[in-house]
Amino acid sequence: MPSPVGHILIGLTAANIVLKPNLYHSVVWLIFVIFAANAADLDFLPGWLAGDINRFHHGISHSVGMAFVFACLCALTSRLVTAKTRLVFLAALIIYLSHLLADYLGVDVVEPYGAPFLWPLSDEYYLAPAQLFQPIEHGHLGETSLTVLDKIFSLNNLLAVCIEVMIIIPVWGITFWISRKRKIKE
Ligand SMILES: [Zn+2]
Repeated sequence: MPSPVGHILIGLTAANIVLKPNLYHSVVWLIFVIFAANAADLDFLPGWLAGDINRFHHGISHSVGMAFVFACLCALTSRLVTAKTRLVFLAALIIYLSHLLADYLGVDVVEPYGAPFLWPLSDEYYLAPAQLFQPIEHGHLGETSLTVLDKIFSLNNLLAVCIEVMIIIPVWGITFWISRKRKIKE
């Protein structure tokens, strides 16, 4: 799995594709993109509260089913503040799915490897046969939050984040350039 930094960059890349630049450059949309890009990893929270941060990680929050639920919830909530509910639904869905794709392409060192990406259609865990992103150390099942924190702020993770940035920034740059050209034409 990539780091939150990697997920944000991949989410911003997805946003370049689905959102017009004038929208995506507003602070509210930027916060929304950052949240949607990392929402699947909120599954760390219940484990953290239970004293075993990895207990529920890479469960059904990492699935197309939950991506759909998340997009519906975002669209319903957005009705309170904007009429762009269809756009919110589409953006939330695509950005959430970008998280799943990134995790599918990342080295996983904690069993069961991968995640049930196709839930509820299948409970099977999937992982790409060849991985693009280095693993981010976040401990193992049963380890305390302190041990996990120690592993998270490690040199290995810093190197993994640097590699992620080097891989994703060119792709983000290309999609950003295309989205700018699209705006100029409109
Ligand atoms: Zn994840």
